[in-house]
Amino acid sequence: KLDTSIKEGEAEILVNNANVFYNPVQEFNRDLGVAALTAFIKDIQEQKTERNTKKEDGITVLEALSATGLRSIRYAKEVKGIKQIIANDICAKAVESIKKNIQHNGVENLVKSSHEDATLLMYQSRKNKFDVIDLDPYGCPTIFLDGAVQCVSDGGLLMITATDMAVLAGNSPETCFLKYGAISLRSKACHEMALRILLQSIASHAGRYGRYIIPLLSISVDFYIRVFVKVFSSHIKCKENATKIGMVYQCTGCESINTQPLCYKKSTGGYKLTSSPYVDQLCKICQHKQHEGGPIWLGPLHNEYFVNNLLCNLDNIKLGTFKRMVGVLNVIHEELNVPLYYTLDRLMSIVRCVTPSMLIFRSALLNAGYRVSYSHACKTSIKTDAPNEVIWDIVRAW
Ligand code: SAM
Repeated sequence: KLDTSIKEGEAEILVNNANVFYNPVQEFNRDLGVAALTAFIKDIQEQKTERNTKKEDGITVLEALSATGLRSIRYAKEVKGIKQIIANDICAKAVESIKKNIQHNGVENLVKSSHEDATLLMYQSRKNKFDVIDLDPYGCPTIFLDGAVQCVSDGGLLMITATDMAVLAGNSPETCFLKYGAISLRSKACHEMALRILLQSIASHAGRYGRYIIPLLSISVDFYIRVFVKVFSSHIKCKENATKIGMVYQCTGCESINTQPLCYKKSTGGYKLTSSPYVDQLCKICQHKQHEGGPIWLGPLHNEYFVNNLLCNLDNIKLGTFKRMVGVLNVIHEELNVPLYYTLDRLMSIVRCVTPSMLIFRSALLNAGYRVSYSHACKTSIKTDAPNEVIWDIVRAW
């Protein structure tokens, strides 16, 4: 069978085997990897210059689930400041394809192929850690998290995709609990809930090894989610996990959402357990029962400084999905740091009223003295720091 050559970014890969995974729809996902890696390396280099320390000769990257090697080859050709990339896959045919593509692109000096179970490879690399680990599995990534949080360097970056959106979006809460340790809820905010369930799972895995996470960017697009998190070591900081992770309560009547961290930090030091005002209580707005979901990550989804850097750098990188990337990142840049959101059409359909324009509804919230933004995860979303009572007053007044 003849090879078909496919160009994406600076890479050209040869594909001739139906058993080796290549998905052109994921170009945006790979472009995002290139942009994020560039911003991450720039940040490291700037920090080193500021501290006047000797610049190293570059970072190490593990693409643990590589398929054709396309992503690794793109990183090698499009991102400056990388010392070595390991492109790994468990499937022999995939590794054959990775080797062929490394040669075809002339990146033998930077990219090495590896034929190993990703979990085993990551456990074996705990002493010789990677600065960046990219996990792009079929479906759910959680079986790889225990290894990944142990073999990424201090201050290193994890880039993780999940495509099992049905599970994360509340279609099968019990399966979600098995895989991610959290109950997913059917909600209009399910895509952000999915991001927060994945971040909770990464933070929990990291905490077991005295490590904590700082999310840099969390994205929901098409049929998948992708998070970029930095991992640091500190037993003390890990304890804050219980203040950044919490439960979600969704009313079965008006669908109002409340969140509650598992613990609070006391001003005198130490931690206080939450006595939940939501469990076994009826919704304050409509007196219906509430469903309990989670635990989810309640901390920030994005890091403002990183997103700014990403946006500023985009003009210097050539990306096939440039326009879309600018659009998505600009919405993210404006996104309020408030967990979850409502959608205007759903709010109005609960009270069986005609939907007003988004502009009018947002103005009402602003006039009442609250902040409001969109979520990048949904076009009709309303993200606001207004209490549920205020939102419903506006809906009722319409
Ligand atoms: N990252 C690739 C890209 O951007 O084109 C796509 C990766 S594909 C979705 C997932 C790959 O993971 C498959 O090639 C599969 O063979 C590999 N895989 C699945 N389980 C694995 C494991 N335990 N260790 C290593 N590779 C594995």
